[in-house]
Amino acid sequence: MGIMKIVIIGGGMAGLAAGIYAQIAGFESVIYEKYRTLGGQCTGWDRNGYRIDSCISLMGGTKEGTGFNKMWKEFGVIRKEDDIIRPDSFGTAEFNGVSITLWKNLDRLRTELLAISPEDEKPIENLIQNCRLMGDISMVVPVDKPVDMMSPGDLLKVLKALLGAGGILTKNSKTSFAEYAARFKHPALQKLILSRLPPYFSILGFFFTIGTFASGNGDLPRGGSRTLPDRMSEKYLALGGRIHTGSAAEEIIVRGNRAVGVRFTANGERFTAEADYVIAACDVHITLTKLLKNQYRDRRFELRYRNSRDYPVFSTFHAAFGIQRDLTAYPISLIFEVEPLTVGLTEYPFIKFRNYSYDQDFAPPGCSVITVPLNQSGEDYRFWEDLYRRDIEGYRREKQRIGEELRARLVRRFPEWEGKIQLLDVATPLSYHHYTGAWQGAWMSFMMTPKAKLLIHSGKIRGLKNCLLTGQWLQPPGGVPTAIMNGRFTIQRICKMEKRPLLPPLGGD
Ligand SMILES: Cc1cc2nc3c(=O)[nH]c(=O)nc-3n(C[C@H](O)[C@H](O)[C@H](O)COP(=O)(O)OP(=O)(O)OC[C@H]3O[C@@H](n4cnc5c(N)ncnc54)[C@H](O)[C@@H]3O)c2cc1C
Repeated sequence: MGIMKIVIIGGGMAGLAAGIYAQIAGFESVIYEKYRTLGGQCTGWDRNGYRIDSCISLMGGTKEGTGFNKMWKEFGVIRKEDDIIRPDSFGTAEFNGVSITLWKNLDRLRTELLAISPEDEKPIENLIQNCRLMGDISMVVPVDKPVDMMSPGDLLKVLKALLGAGGILTKNSKTSFAEYAARFKHPALQKLILSRLPPYFSILGFFFTIGTFASGNGDLPRGGSRTLPDRMSEKYLALGGRIHTGSAAEEIIVRGNRAVGVRFTANGERFTAEADYVIAACDVHITLTKLLKNQYRDRRFELRYRNSRDYPVFSTFHAAFGIQRDLTAYPISLIFEVEPLTVGLTEYPFIKFRNYSYDQDFAPPGCSVITVPLNQSGEDYRFWEDLYRRDIEGYRREKQRIGEELRARLVRRFPEWEGKIQLLDVATPLSYHHYTGAWQGAWMSFMMTPKAKLLIHSGKIRGLKNCLLTGQWLQPPGGVPTAIMNGRFTIQRICKMEKRPLLPPLGGD
């Protein structure tokens, strides 16, 4: 029998990881990406001499020795320590006239919070301890093979690590941001908690983000988000993989219980790629409804698409600004209260900017670039979709209007930027959907709420033997690490189905 051919639909982080591991495992693989560049949601672009980054504020796996770190090294994403930027704070927030910085050093953070509100000592200690424990968990996430393929010995190790974290997951997964914030007396600390994610999300998201950052296992890639797919595609091509951009999958061709190929369109031409295996590394909703024509049901995904209250997804309204000033003395991110602004259907009493001055590649000398990302719900997504359908010019005007409103609020807070700040670009949740196909333009996957059940999906499609889903949707909360981990898991599953040796352990473990 000849070499088995794997067709990978989608050149995002999961598709690239699957491609690299397919080549390492000895398969012949081809990645087909509908857009003209790779990376999917993990991307950035240039405008008027500025680099606009639209993804990573926290890249998990930057701590030496962790599973994800070994993967980044295997992909050639981290080649030397200088490839990672390690800021000393996650950002600053200003509420009720109080400025709070989320320091990487948790002792420093504790001191900062206690100085603001000594009467909140108990919840502050709890917050610090939970961030510490979650940071520890982030370092032991098993990324070599999926849980159902682990040996009893490996499973025991994972269980021990979780038990060592003092049951933090079970204790806190049912607590929402709103409930947790209410434990604090000081309004600025309450707002600090509530400013990060919607109030009904599980507070674990806060501990995980700050804990990962504080543990030194979550930092920033030099060059920004697009460095990741750039370096991964280099690695993939060096391993003999092939990439076709501008090629959109239209249909997965099925005979009996097997996928035999994929029909694509590129430059208006249709063509078919034959396959022994198909990996759908694109959006799951698109795969099930469009590419497989609703012929294969998946009740766990259907439940999540139906019940957006317990399984919400969030997208972004994203504005980027070029500023003719050096902003290295400003915080890396700042949340501050503003005259309320409605975007889509949501009113924002505060906004956040991200400041990219830590990386000289982002702006011309003496200038800086900042972005203002606003979380948008499924209802907001429908607002933008409806406006686009009814009145495309009105949609464009609304985007521009909000960009200008944001600029005015930035100048009100920083009068020294007057006349020096230029609106570069605006993206809505619909833009994210148009470019990546992500369901409702979602960043990451289904969010964890207190009522949500944990999803760990194998990617297998019932009734189809050789077509596997992969990517951020298989496990909440998604994100770049989840995407690359699932890319690896998918190849491990194919190796197992083909009765081949599994991939070599990460980093020679
Ligand atoms: C604004 C924003 C901020 C984020 N911040 C972070 C962060 O700080 N940290 C973090 O870890 N994660 C972050 N994420 C999430 C992270 O980017 C994603 O979870 C991850 O990149 C998803 O990778 P994926 O490969 O699973 O999916 P995608 O990136 O969606 O890739 C799917 C690919 O499939 C392609 N495709 C779709 N349909 C077809 C088709 N029919 N034919 C061919 N190709 C197709 C798409 O164009 C895309 O390239 C952020 C995302 C966004 C949008």
